[in-house]
Amino acid sequence: MTLDRDAFYIDGQWAAPATSATLQVVSPHSEQVVATVPEGSAADVDAAVAAARRAFDEGPWPRMSPEERIEVVQAFSGLYAGKVAEMADLITTEMGAPTSFSNLAQSPAPWMQIEAFLGIARAFPWEETRPGVLGPEVIVRREPVGVVAAIPPWNVPQFTTISKVVPALLAGNTVVVKPAPETPLDTYLMAELLEEAGVPAGVVNIVAAGREVGEHLVAHPGIDKVAFTGSTAAGRKIAAVCGEQLKRVSLELGGKSAAIVLDDADLAATMEGLKFVALMNSGQACVAQTRILASRANYDAVVGALAETVSGMVVGDPADPATEIGPMVARRQQERVEKYIALGQEEGARVVVGGNGMPDGLDRGWYVRPTVFADVDNRMRIAQEEIFGPVLSVIAYDDVDDAVRIANDSDYGLAGTVWTGDPDAGLDVARRVRAGTYGVNTYTMDFAAPFGGFKASGIGREFGPEGLAQYTELKAIYPTAPAM
Ligand code: NAD
Repeated sequence: MTLDRDAFYIDGQWAAPATSATLQVVSPHSEQVVATVPEGSAADVDAAVAAARRAFDEGPWPRMSPEERIEVVQAFSGLYAGKVAEMADLITTEMGAPTSFSNLAQSPAPWMQIEAFLGIARAFPWEETRPGVLGPEVIVRREPVGVVAAIPPWNVPQFTTISKVVPALLAGNTVVVKPAPETPLDTYLMAELLEEAGVPAGVVNIVAAGREVGEHLVAHPGIDKVAFTGSTAAGRKIAAVCGEQLKRVSLELGGKSAAIVLDDADLAATMEGLKFVALMNSGQACVAQTRILASRANYDAVVGALAETVSGMVVGDPADPATEIGPMVARRQQERVEKYIALGQEEGARVVVGGNGMPDGLDRGWYVRPTVFADVDNRMRIAQEEIFGPVLSVIAYDDVDDAVRIANDSDYGLAGTVWTGDPDAGLDVARRVRAGTYGVNTYTMDFAAPFGGFKASGIGREFGPEGLAQYTELKAIYPTAPAM
């Protein structure tokens, strides 16, 4: 079956592209082209925004009751549930996530998000009446923002698309999605499911394209809000444009999270946990715990255990269920990670596992060797900059206060973890680290709770009622004149 496509999803139609430009989706494992799809141009984005604008200004969607919209999204959820496995395969094919990760986070997790948002929307105070100060009552309404530009990255493409599209829809917005050029395929399947669920024409429009067309979408006068996940560098540019135009904006950006290993941690259980939280998605995860903080007393033990764990991980074909670390998404990303591995050595850090070169037994594909650096100073670039690959830095601390200081000594503030035998000590550390999500002996994202970043990791939150609220404007209505 071919994965090729020749159209965009615009105004409820499979619309012919404005130009003949194409994007090639290349397998990071085989380096072979697996699909060709149209590449969006500014003219395609203009058509998508016009359709979304019409659907918002004149169409039924924003005027339907929340209950009516919930019914349509519920139908979408039912259809999505039946396609979870197909979606996971598609994402492994297009960006090389190990299938074990895709079948956990790339596809079931977005479906869980849809279900969570449905529950949140059912309980959401769309319109409430409060006692007033001047008059007897005030009505507070939550109305849609308008036309939303949803811009996801390639690393968790459905996870970050659904986290925008579904709350936007439930709140009555219309959407233009611009998938990353590496990962357009999953959004075609999503479009088919939205259409089958009965989402009206023009409510969701999808045009895959690169950065320049993304910039055109962000600056487009027809857009009311930008919901972006991606690098901090791109987030800053987008925020600047939105600031100038006073558009609403939410940004989920990069991270350099610290895992603090306290001396009383069960080292074997900690290593088992770190395999996932530090190296999920082959290290291509914004929340990856890439700085491992160990006390000076326990340092050698932690480095030794981590070296043993990482050197035992299965690297290879992402389609193989046994694979724990797959290829990088693109040659560009492989080269970026290799540059950081070389830089770490130049900075004086010590490679204890990995280093540059292809992993054993592989002679093609965009692989890197999972790498652990010891003797890392937190001021080194490998400890401060997001590498976005399977590269970990072990940093020594003097005491718990010093560990918290080092964890906070970062431009980022996305996530963090602490590993300890004492849950109260863990909670104490969790309260002191400046990050948007924090795990004690675990890292997870519960879709009932807000997710997002402090500092340069972003603005705003996804998930939970807070994530739904980001797609609403507040309106106060005074239904009666105050008694003067
Ligand atoms: P990227 O910033 O290069 O691109 C992200 C998306 O934005 C792509 O669709 C791209 O085409 C588009 N884009 C880039 N510049 C743009 C601009 N100026 N205007 C409009 N659109 C633009 O990021 P990436 O390499 O695709 O993704 C990796 C980054 O995403 C990492 O920094 C990672 O930490 C971050 N990320 C964050 C989260 C989170 O929730 N905080 C989740 C996943 C990924």
